[in-house]
Amino acid sequence: MTKQSVTRRKGAIRSPLKANRRVPSPASTAANTFAEREAALLAGEQTVDRREEVADRREEVADRREEVADQREEVADQREEIADCREQVAALRDKALRAQEEAARDKAELNAQNQAQLREANEHLVLATVHAQTMTEAAEQAAMQMSYMAKHDFLTGLPNRSLLTDRLAQSMALAQRYGKKVALLYLDLDRFKHINDSLGHTVGDQLLQSVAQRLQACVRVSDTVCRQGGDEFVVLLAEVHTLQDVCLTAEKLIKAMAEPHLIDAHWLHVTLSIGISLYPDHGQDVETVVQNADSAMYHAKQSGRNTYRVFTQEMNVRAVTRHSVEETLRRALEQHEFVLHYQPKVNLATGVITGAEALIRLQQAHHRLIGPEQFVSIAEDSGLILPMGQWVLRETCRQMAVWLQAGLDISQIAINVSAVEFHGKNFLAGVRAILNDTGMDPHYLEFEMTESGLMPDTELTTSHLHALKELGVQIAVDDFGTGYSSLSYLRRFPIDTLKIDQSFVRELDGNAGDAIVSAVIAIGMSLKQRVVAEGIETPQQLAFLQSHHCAEGQGFFFSRPVTADAFATLLETGIRR
Ligand code: C2E
Ligand code: MG
Ligand code: MG
Repeated sequence: MTKQSVTRRKGAIRSPLKANRRVPSPASTAANTFAEREAALLAGEQTVDRREEVADRREEVADRREEVADQREEVADQREEIADCREQVAALRDKALRAQEEAARDKAELNAQNQAQLREANEHLVLATVHAQTMTEAAEQAAMQMSYMAKHDFLTGLPNRSLLTDRLAQSMALAQRYGKKVALLYLDLDRFKHINDSLGHTVGDQLLQSVAQRLQACVRVSDTVCRQGGDEFVVLLAEVHTLQDVCLTAEKLIKAMAEPHLIDAHWLHVTLSIGISLYPDHGQDVETVVQNADSAMYHAKQSGRNTYRVFTQEMNVRAVTRHSVEETLRRALEQHEFVLHYQPKVNLATGVITGAEALIRLQQAHHRLIGPEQFVSIAEDSGLILPMGQWVLRETCRQMAVWLQAGLDISQIAINVSAVEFHGKNFLAGVRAILNDTGMDPHYLEFEMTESGLMPDTELTTSHLHALKELGVQIAVDDFGTGYSSLSYLRRFPIDTLKIDQSFVRELDGNAGDAIVSAVIAIGMSLKQRVVAEGIETPQQLAFLQSHHCAEGQGFFFSRPVTADAFATLLETGIRR
């Protein structure tokens, strides 16, 4: 609708009001035709105006309608638009909701995942912590075990040398402060090596464990029993008042050892040699106290074993260290300082010399003689026994040839062969070579071996023994009865002679050895072996042996071991009693 048409309609509305004011009354119509025409004209005009006005209004209405329609359309459009917008908003909301839901789901999922991961990580952490803890504990335990092992002997569980040194130093410091004494007892098992060699290391180890237990049972908790190594033990008495108390302890230890040990179905007897030294009396420092106890122990051994000795300064003067013994032996081999002495074996019924045993000695300057007890075991440990043994056999063969050439009546000479030699690789070859070199008839020779030398009962032992027998050499079992072996080997091995150990003969005076000696004589007779009694010193011992028909004997009663010349004289003159 335009502005012009709106103005026109306003004018049209005003005009009928004007017309109403101009209409004439019905009484004047006839009188005034002109007026009537004029009125008709005016009425016509007014009708036209009204019609125009109506048309305008209609137009106006149409316009308005159109306008309304337009507006409706507009509204509809707008509604549509709004609806679209709403739809869009709804869609967006939906989308947002979905996104929110998705996000929530994702978040939940993520949360769950995170939680699972967190739980897993936690579990790992716990496991790792436990593992670390276990590792730490294991490491601590290993460290403790290592430190324990470093200070203890693995076989017996006793403190070892290193721990003993610590404790001795500690005890000495305390003793110094409180004016007390400390005692050190150095213990060595007598003839342990024989048991170890004859019954094997397992039995030997068990015996050492049993010995350790007994020693521990004899001392106070505050004292220390330690294993120095091998068959050596040390007892540290931390608080000592008098030397007498220490001697009582030593006696107690020796007595405790007197009971046999039952090991692996063997009743084993071992004895102890003990050396005692005191702080501060015999040494001011650890090393001296230990060394002096060792020297005293060595003297206990020299004094016949199974006893104890208290250190004295004189012992130190004569104390020979192991090292210097080895040096002395080496030099003796180079400079021909060894000599053989010969002890006659006698027919107990007739008193006639049946042969001799060659015994080694070390002749030092100024004719000082050192006996084999002082160096044979060191020679065995160091391997020096091999050249020494070869020298003994060669020298014996040489000497025998001299006597035979001189027309002396000697039917046999015996030499001692140690286990180390017998089990050595070149033993038989060495024997053959020497017999060859010297031209000695092997039938004149007898090899004396201890039971431990013959054991273990292996193929090698049997084949060596048979090889010697084939050569013509006789075999004797030395120190018979002290090797703790079963007797079954007597039938298996080609043995000619049993030598009854002198410890049994010595006990004949007191009856205790009677049963053993007569049993050995009976065994020998039944197996058709010669029986030679060692260590005969008294007429009573001789009488017992004679009455039990022991064929032969050897001992100071007849003669000590003597030089080759002196023995030749004995052969010529016979033994006079
Ligand atoms: P063994 O073979 O049992 O020798 C006998 C030991 O008893 C000798 O000691 C001898 O002097 C001693 N004896 C003899 N009759 C009596 C007696 O009536 N009373 C006492 N108390 N003792 C007597 P020796 O010469 O000191 O020899 C000790 C051990 O040294 C020997 O015991 C033997 O096992 C070993 N031995 C000696 N010479 C050699 C050797 O050339 N080689 C080897 N491997 N060992 C040897
Ligand atoms: Mg002998
Ligand atoms: Mg003997």
